[in-house]
Amino acid sequence: MSQKRDYYEVLGVDRKVSDSDIKKAFRSKAREFHPDKNPDDPDAEARFKEVQEAYAILSNPDERKKYDMFGHDRPGGSPWGAGGFQGVNISIDDLFGGGFESIFSSLFGGGTRRRPSRGADLLIRHVVSFQDAFNGVDDELEIDVLNRCESCDGSGSQTPEGVRVCPTCDGRGRLTRIERIGPFQQQVTQDCRACGGDGRIIQNPCKTCAGKGRAEQSKKVKFSVPAGIDSGTRLRLSGHGESPSNLNGKPGNLYIEIEIEEHDWFERDGSDLLMALPVSYVDLVLGTSIEIPHIDGSTLKIIVNAGSKPGETVTIPNRGLPYPRGGRGRGAVMVLLKLAMPNKLSRSTKKQLKELKENLGSGAPVTDDIISEARERRRS
Ligand SMILES: [Zn+2]
Ligand SMILES: [Zn+2]
Repeated sequence: MSQKRDYYEVLGVDRKVSDSDIKKAFRSKAREFHPDKNPDDPDAEARFKEVQEAYAILSNPDERKKYDMFGHDRPGGSPWGAGGFQGVNISIDDLFGGGFESIFSSLFGGGTRRRPSRGADLLIRHVVSFQDAFNGVDDELEIDVLNRCESCDGSGSQTPEGVRVCPTCDGRGRLTRIERIGPFQQQVTQDCRACGGDGRIIQNPCKTCAGKGRAEQSKKVKFSVPAGIDSGTRLRLSGHGESPSNLNGKPGNLYIEIEIEEHDWFERDGSDLLMALPVSYVDLVLGTSIEIPHIDGSTLKIIVNAGSKPGETVTIPNRGLPYPRGGRGRGAVMVLLKLAMPNKLSRSTKKQLKELKENLGSGAPVTDDIISEARERRRS
């Protein structure tokens, strides 16, 4: 799991924060941790970089959306590549005036951004019962997803003739110009405003999708939940995410994150099942066997050996959950023995227990019992 701090926490803002407040928060944190202001604090530089990284992601609408959905653990890995975020050189003057925005927007190709060739990935959470997690199940979900508009087959136009090449950008969708930032000159490529980066002008937009070529549609997706699956596992359904915004792209993927309902008495430890069993003092001393219904359909027989102590466990192999991903066999059921205390005692039971106490007393001084208990503990 990622040890990285939450980007919103790094900037000290909440998740609903507006774009302008993100900028404000960044400005103030970046000034606070700027290395020029903290020459003797080696931590400041790391904090400065952390603040930059958080701002780079949260100030970019696409990246923020991905982060909100997946956190640091996004499909396809870190947007920075294997090396992680490298930091950018911002002078402290930039933080008072402006001029830092273009540095950040260029991190993701900013101005030179190409139209996404793939639709967005989607993540939905889906709850399955404990029993289904044991057996595996073929499941089905109905989701609303941005799909290629059926009325215009994604062209966005009412008629096929109604589409013409954008004259402003000659159909490229992008325009390049030279921009001056202080002493620097840089070439900036931006989406063409006339066509919104599409390279096409639609004269008579499709009524169903308002010319966007995509429309929200509900569709059914079928998928298999494998036996033994663990909570938090994400199933990937390739191509079931959003349709791309341009005609040539591919749809994104749909991720279904499985959450497993709690069982009435079992806890999971991987493929092992853990449970606690309250047993009376008499049953611990004399031994007993207890049968309970089990998720595999057969009765689970728990044998408590005579002389068992509370805190000991009884392991029943091969009755836990199936090992996931085609592994053979099953985990174990582990039963923790607990001493069941009676709630209420009748007068006569109390009297019997007092007699019993006299019979059971070892007669040895209490310190001897304490010492032998300690020896036992050290040996085990
Ligand atoms: Zn349409
Ligand atoms: Zn254009």
